[in-house]
This record gives sequence, C-alpha cells and structure tokens, in this order.
Amino acid sequence: SRADITYFGAGPALLPTDVLETAAQALLDFNGTGLGIAEHSHRSELATNIINEAKADLASYLDIPTAEYEVLFMQGGGTGEFSASIYNLVGAWVARQHAAVVMEIGADDEAAAVAALRKRVESDLKLDYIVTGGWSLKAYQEAVRLLGPEYVNLVADARTENGGKFGKIPDQSTWKLSKDAALVYYCDNETVDGVEFPGFPQALAPGPDGTGPIVVADMSSNILSRRFPATNYSLLFFGAQKNLGSTGVTVAVLKKAFLPPNTVQPSPTLLRKLGLPIPPIVLQYEIIAKNNSLYNTLSIFDVYIAGQVLKKLLRTFPDRVDGQEALSAKKANLIYAALDAHPDVYKVVPDKSARSRMNICFRVTKSEKAFLKESTAIGLTGLKGHRSVGGIRASNYNSIPLEGAEKLARFIDAFAKA
Ligand code: PMP
Repeated sequence: SRADITYFGAGPALLPTDVLETAAQALLDFNGTGLGIAEHSHRSELATNIINEAKADLASYLDIPTAEYEVLFMQGGGTGEFSASIYNLVGAWVARQHAAVVMEIGADDEAAAVAALRKRVESDLKLDYIVTGGWSLKAYQEAVRLLGPEYVNLVADARTENGGKFGKIPDQSTWKLSKDAALVYYCDNETVDGVEFPGFPQALAPGPDGTGPIVVADMSSNILSRRFPATNYSLLFFGAQKNLGSTGVTVAVLKKAFLPPNTVQPSPTLLRKLGLPIPPIVLQYEIIAKNNSLYNTLSIFDVYIAGQVLKKLLRTFPDRVDGQEALSAKKANLIYAALDAHPDVYKVVPDKSARSRMNICFRVTKSEKAFLKESTAIGLTGLKGHRSVGGIRASNYNSIPLEGAEKLARFIDAFAKA
C-alpha cells in the first residue's frame, strides 16, 4: 500500500498523502458546491481565488517581491518554457532595439527603421546558454532550432573539460558571455545528470549599479527546496510535477519590466520583416499576464493541488523556504554520506562540487540489478536512473520524508556490507 512505499521517481514525483486526500474530496465535491474542482468553470470566482491564493503563497514562501514580479500559470511544461523564454525575450530585445532606432532616426520613416533593425538583429542578437546537462542542452537546442545557430552562443559546455560527460559546472572564469545578450540561460538543477548549481552563479550577478545580464533559469527540479536571490532573475520557470504539484501546470515568474507598459512585444508584421519567429499566442507572457493566467482553459485542479502543497509547506515551516532548505540538505547529506562510506561499491556520478541535493545519481559497481531488486522489495521504489544515462537515481524532492531518506541511507549501507 501507499504507506509501505517511498517513491524516489524523478517526476512525476510523490505528493503528500494528506494533500491527495483533500484533493480527492475536492475532485468529487468542492467545498459543498456539489461539483468537483475539475468540473467548475475556470472563469468562476472560486477558480480565480484558487489562482490568486496559489500565486500569493508561492511569492510569500519564496520571498518573491510581487510589486516587481508576475507569477504566471502556463501549460506546455518545462519544454514549453524552453520556447516561451526565447520568443518573449527575443521580443523584448527587439522592442529595446526598436526604441533605440526610433531615437536615432525618428519615427517617420518606417522602412528605414526596419532596415536599421534588421542590421541590428544580424549583428547583435545573441542568446547565451550555459550547458551543464541534458535539460539545458535541450533548451539550447530549441534556441538553435527556432532562431538558427548564428544567434545562439554556447557560453560553456560542461562536457568539454569532463571527458565528454556531464557532471561538473565549468569554472565561471572560462564562460564566454556575450555583450548585452537577449538572455543568459542556465538550468539550476539538472535532473538527469544530478548536477546542481551550488548557488546563484556569480558571473551573472548584477553590478554595483544594480544592472546585470537578463538571467533565465530552469528551476523545474529544485524549486521550493532552497532560497535564491529572486531579483537577480528576469525569468524563472518550473513544471509542477516534482516539488510543487501534479503534472499539467507550469509556473513562470517574470520581471514586470518585460511586460506592458514597460515592454510591448513587437507585432507579428515586424517580426516577419525581421525574419524572426512569431510566438504562438499561448506562449506569450503578456497575453497570459493580462488574463491572470486564464487566456484559455487552465487546469484549476492542478493549480489547486499546487496551492495545497504550498499551504502545507507554509504550515510546516514557519521560516518558509529556509526550513525546507535545511531539511533538504539534511536528507541529501545522509544519502551521500552512506554512498561515500563505501567507495568500493558506489560511485557518485557528478563531481563533489556540483552534487545535486534533489537528484542523487550514482553507479553500483556490485550489481545495479540486485540493488534495484532488493530496494524495491523493502518499499524503496523509483530508483532506476534516466534511460539515457542508466545507473541509479534517488530523487530527494520535498515530499520525501526524513524517514524515507534515512531508510534509503540504511539500505545503501546494508547492501554494500552484504
Ligand atoms: N527541465 C528540467 C530540469 C526537467 O527535469 C524537466 C523534466 N523532467 C524538463 C525541463 C521538461 O519538463 P516537461 O516534461 O514538463 O516539459
């Protein structure tokens, strides 16, 4: 039964049982309305309340200043955000260049403005990607696919100095950042490779005047597990299905500087003239923001689950994300310590400097098949590594209780000794 199992799958991941019990009831009859939460209109007042509460709780838990940032519920997963980040921040870059061109040559001669803009696009448009694992690689590839390789700069490839494999974060002094890139992208936690940035990359920090690069981060697999300096980011995003809730809703947190009236996305006509791709409407942040995430039908059930997870986190940890951060570190340290105690049997895949607290990837030199079989037999499940890399992966998300991590650490020790 559910109570006998600790599930270490990488996503979809374990959800707190009490949240699921509440959600199960809400699915049948939400708050005595006689109608389930998945049946109510997304345009109803109760749906709007669920959205607004989840937004406010998320911002409060993570210390995101809502005067400066917009929280958007999107669809299309982390993968959809690979594309959305490109469309929207290239659009913002074009809007800035357009303003500069108009300053230079005036607003009257449209053809001249377009010609000047085209020149700027060809010579100056650059998107920077730091590739540290399979997911940032996919995001980089999406930029190349949408725009063409001439616009995409590979700031660093973690495989270069690491024998062709992911597992290390390249030294920041070697990063080749562009001047005024439309965005600088990185993945805070690489789910497949078990590589996590130890903190905000200093090479991307704002200068003394407060301005810095336009930083975009994929936080799909470590959001809600540690504090981060929110105001250093222009955009961060994450799918819900690991630390936040159920599959089907994706969150984007965007600096309001990139939304109207501060930034107005270029028209499709202008983009066409510039040879740049036109964003699908559901991936346009200004459309989603203007409609409070309800431009089209959003799964309110998924937002509800996310909201319940946030409420539970806020109840459990009076010091909010800092409390969860301490617990996450404790659980990860337990598991890594058990692995490190038996270097003859286990080899942690990533370098010590980049070990993920969320996805603990290791090889078993004895027999991985036996490891999986015996762990499953005692209720430790979902430990098989990603199909592209093999090995073992223990995903240590927020919903893994301390006892679950302790049980896994004990098993790791016992298996090695047996
Ligand atoms: N980024 C990261 C770090 C991920 O772990 C995943 C999915 N595991 C994705 C992006 C892609 O997310 P989705 O499957 O929701 O598109």
